[in-house]
Amino acid sequence: MQFGLYAVSLLAGAFVSAAVGFVGWRGASNRAGRLLALLMAAVFVWSLTAGLEAAALDPAVKILLSKFEYLGITSVPVLMFMSSLWFVRGGRRPRRGWLAALWLIPFLTVLAAFTNGHHHFLWTSFTPVTEGAERLLIYGHGPLFWVFAVYAYLLLTIAALSLLSSAVRLKGLYRLQALAVLVSILPPSLANFLYLAGRAAAPTGHDFTPVGFAASGLLLLWAMFRLRLVDLVPVARDRVIESMGESLFILDDAGRLAATNPAARRLIAAAGGPAENVPERRLLGNPAAGLVPRWPALAASLAAPAAEERELAFPGDGPEQTYSLRLSPIFGQGTLVTGWVAVLYDISRVKSAEKAAVEARAVAEALREAGATLSSKLDFNQISALILELLKRVIPYDIGAFMTVEDSALKLAAIRRPADHRNLIGETYPLSGSRLCNMAAQRLRPLIGVINGPDDILLPLGPDAEAHSFLGVPVVIRDQVIGLIALYNTGRRPFNEENAAVAEAFAGQVAIAMDNSRRVELMERQAITDELTGLYNRRAFALAGDKEVSRARRYGRPLALIFFDIDHFKNVNDSHGHLIGDHVLRVLTELVTRTTRATDIVCRYGGEEFIVLMPEADRDEALAMAERLRLEISRMTVVTAGGTLSLTVSLGVAALRRNEDESLEDLIARADRAMYQAKAAGRNTVRG
Ligand code: GH3
Ligand code: MG
Ligand code: MG
Repeated sequence: MQFGLYAVSLLAGAFVSAAVGFVGWRGASNRAGRLLALLMAAVFVWSLTAGLEAAALDPAVKILLSKFEYLGITSVPVLMFMSSLWFVRGGRRPRRGWLAALWLIPFLTVLAAFTNGHHHFLWTSFTPVTEGAERLLIYGHGPLFWVFAVYAYLLLTIAALSLLSSAVRLKGLYRLQALAVLVSILPPSLANFLYLAGRAAAPTGHDFTPVGFAASGLLLLWAMFRLRLVDLVPVARDRVIESMGESLFILDDAGRLAATNPAARRLIAAAGGPAENVPERRLLGNPAAGLVPRWPALAASLAAPAAEERELAFPGDGPEQTYSLRLSPIFGQGTLVTGWVAVLYDISRVKSAEKAAVEARAVAEALREAGATLSSKLDFNQISALILELLKRVIPYDIGAFMTVEDSALKLAAIRRPADHRNLIGETYPLSGSRLCNMAAQRLRPLIGVINGPDDILLPLGPDAEAHSFLGVPVVIRDQVIGLIALYNTGRRPFNEENAAVAEAFAGQVAIAMDNSRRVELMERQAITDELTGLYNRRAFALAGDKEVSRARRYGRPLALIFFDIDHFKNVNDSHGHLIGDHVLRVLTELVTRTTRATDIVCRYGGEEFIVLMPEADRDEALAMAERLRLEISRMTVVTAGGTLSLTVSLGVAALRRNEDESLEDLIARADRAMYQAKAAGRNTVRG
């Protein structure tokens, strides 16, 4: 074995190609990486066998190694051609028939190498020479060698020309890539040319072509990582991208279009650029910003690209469309930006869902607030006034009325409408008077209706109301309709199911508030009234009476008081029982309330003792009233199961003495004393 410079450089080439092949195989996940690895495998076989051949001393061994060398020699140009083609065709695979045809001549050449002894088609002679310390074998080449050589050069020429045209046509990074692949063809071609040309002059047997190919491998490896050769091209051109919904624009560093996908071309057409069927190559190389004239926001982003992600609204009259734009730089050498990738995708559905969620939250918040506001009020009048105002925040309406429902009658509690001159609060209307209100109340759930005739409109609005759409919202508590909210829209805008759902939730809050206010009202009434008769109790009378006394004193008005006690009431209880006694007290109360004036304050002062406070009445008027009461009561008969019974009362009268500083208690005490005088005088009489 001899390891001269020639053999060593070939073996070094073998080593380099093996390394490049390995890195290529590991570094790229796609076909391009595998193609590069295959190419390097062939170069490796070529370099290794050539190196060993140069190192071998025995001509027979050299010839045998040369035969194996041809496995590499014949594969390299084909793989080189395929690599170039792969790039030029944008990562598309060639057809199978084509592949088979490409490999025909290399296959025949290898076959000829191994069977050369029989026909000498490839090699015609083997001439051993000694150059310095080196022992070489000069191969005389037969016709098949030249056929293959021409074929190989043809392949490389086609590859070079198509790469050149790509380099001219493409821009930016792609141009660099095309040039890199093109340049990678040069070293082996040059080395081979020198070998063949030098051979014609003075045969040396030194063929550095495989070393040239190892250099190509290095160059391609560099292109692969630095220019993202295998990453970017297949990604940009891959059919996945072709068919994806996102619009993809690849720009060079000057903002000119380098590549698009069909979605991007659709977007360009929609944004006022060239139509979708205009071939892509007509768009490439143009400033991308100019291709979307009707979308200034996008044009601005493409004109001065910066790494960003933002939302862009698509201009136009159609349904609202929002896109997300992501611009990312493509880095070349180091931090040098060699281009931009812009990806746009339609996020309208996400946006509208987001909007709906925000709206729903706003409605929920408004309802919660409405509930809190309503339940903080215990006064029914305040609640009524708030209901329509709060509802307007969640449901747009033109006319609104809130009514309480009692015994199939609607009582107007609040109304909102554009021009409201009449005061209708407190007016009642039969529920049957409005067909739609009646239907809503019957079903206990909101009702959306279309107004067809005057019968469909609530009476206070009158048939002249320009209402077209109706939303009736019953206020229900324990399956009982206690209120009704009637909403009307005057325009063509109808109420929808969403309004109805919101209204129902709102009505729930109203129901709770109404229920609370009713309970409070009841409790308040209970606190000031006597349970048996419903008259003012002593505590409430003291409050109301004090007020009347000070008012009478301040304005110098008369005020009188009647105190009366039932005569021998104990006997009623004793002979008829307490229940009858209670009943008698109620009947008596009814008579007293009926007989006295509306402004008089009647109070149950004790068991069967009553007071009538008479504002604006002097002593004589009070005496007259007392006498009238005495007479009426004495004439009254109460029918019971145990027979008919009647009773009498003793009454004492006192009038406020204005010159003295008399209080309510003083007045009561005087009337009480007068009453005792009446008792003493034989009962059923008046004193004062
Ligand atoms: P007179 O006033 O004429 O002297 O005789 P009287 O029998 O009415 O005597 P008095 O006023 O002292 O008695 C009050 C009686 O009234 C005692 C009680 O039996 C009866 N009474 C008081 N409050 C009630 C009540 O709420 N229901 C019933 N059924 N009876 C009551
Ligand atoms: Mg008594
Ligand atoms: Mg009595």
